[in-house]
Amino acid sequence: MTNKIRTVDVIIVGASLAAAAAAKRLHDAGFETLIIEKRELPRHKICSGILSPRGHRFMLENFGPIPQQALHAPTACRGVTFHFPSMVSMSMDFFGGTTPHLHRKYADHWAIEASGAEVQDQTSFIRMQPQGDDQIVTTRKKGGVEVQFKCRYVIGADGPSSPVLRALYPDYPQQIPWFFVGQKFHEIIDCPLDDEYFHFWFHPELGHYTWSHARDGRQIVGVGFKRGDNFHQRHQRVANYLQDKHGVRLKPADADHEGCAENFGPSLINRYVFGKGNVLITGQAAGFLNMIGEGMSCALHSGAIAGEAIIESAIHNRALQPLYRDMVSTEVRRTTDQWNPLKIAFGRPHEADFPAALMALPLKDRLKILRDMWRFACLYKEFKWGREIMRESIARLKHGHYLSKRWL
Ligand SMILES: Cc1cc2nc3c(=O)[nH]c(=O)nc-3n(C[C@H](O)[C@H](O)[C@H](O)COP(=O)(O)OP(=O)(O)OC[C@H]3O[C@@H](n4cnc5c(N)ncnc54)[C@H](O)[C@@H]3O)c2cc1C
Repeated sequence: MTNKIRTVDVIIVGASLAAAAAAKRLHDAGFETLIIEKRELPRHKICSGILSPRGHRFMLENFGPIPQQALHAPTACRGVTFHFPSMVSMSMDFFGGTTPHLHRKYADHWAIEASGAEVQDQTSFIRMQPQGDDQIVTTRKKGGVEVQFKCRYVIGADGPSSPVLRALYPDYPQQIPWFFVGQKFHEIIDCPLDDEYFHFWFHPELGHYTWSHARDGRQIVGVGFKRGDNFHQRHQRVANYLQDKHGVRLKPADADHEGCAENFGPSLINRYVFGKGNVLITGQAAGFLNMIGEGMSCALHSGAIAGEAIIESAIHNRALQPLYRDMVSTEVRRTTDQWNPLKIAFGRPHEADFPAALMALPLKDRLKILRDMWRFACLYKEFKWGREIMRESIARLKHGHYLSKRWL
């Protein structure tokens, strides 16, 4: 342990997209901002990498054109195709044209560097301790050396398992259901799935989250389920299904499969976590996740808002938490609207036109889809989210926004 403590204005934990957006705001406003990242940069991030049009606009406006190296092949995605057990499929194009297929390893690193903030990689957040108006943050460098920093503000942009969130609320991980998502990569023998689209299955027997798409000459087969089940068996079931029902012929999976824990759920039921005092939580750590697991656009926007809230609080000497919660409510509205049945039926909360795609199908297929979606939704019955989603939808209708009293 060293005795000399360096002081900075803000420490951001995690060097991903929420961090890049927060750092950009803070650095531009002249705040001394240090990003710490536990991995070596550029680091791998498990992700399909389909950036939504809104996320794409944010990247262009804040960091500039995305470099070629930060893209996978195919470099662009046209939209999403939903597949149903009744063998009806429905494609939807993104509003405004194709979006980039990000190679997260390089895209995140590029955005972090473009933020202008200082980054220390191979540096893990361990704990923090309030000291007057400041926080003493203890980090551990690769090799085990602990280094402390003093800062006025901390931002936890450290993803679903957020150690910063757990430092504030040690019991939180026990309060929410956890999911596992895993993907395997296959060389392709024959794949009739259109490689310009991200494919998603609303099939309760395949899992809570089942997807496939092309990447760099291989086909990804991904599956998500409640934590505790067997990834390899789940994956095999999906691979067999794709072969039997869609004629997708793939070689056995390559060795580089991967998976991670996901905190899917808080955005559906308006149960976000935004922090305490001078510690803000943002991005997926806060619970932001859009429909079909799209999390980059809300990570970018919520991260930027966390940075802006700190600037506003410091300049106008206003309490940080109420300010952040007030400012981030716009992003809560956008994200939770995506899961709100009233918004889905009567609004257009997504970045592709689901109602128009549905109405373009013959009536008998529409009815099949609605029945299949209902059966898929029943898969989530055990989490008892249905009633909470309806209550939040009604609150949204009545107040025009989601109620902040549900947030931690
Ligand atoms: C299989 C899969 C597919 C997905 N596909 C898509 C998609 O196509 N489109 C989309 O928009 N979203 C997708 N997502 C979701 C998206 O990846 C996330 O929502 C998004 O990356 C969240 O960004 P973030 O900045 O909040 O955190 P993250 O990207 O999770 O980054 C957190 C960072 O914090 C670091 N960190 C963690 N602990 C510590 C510590 N103790 N000290 C220091 N650093 C730490 C991590 O190493 C990481 O770099 C997918 C997710 C998965 C799992």
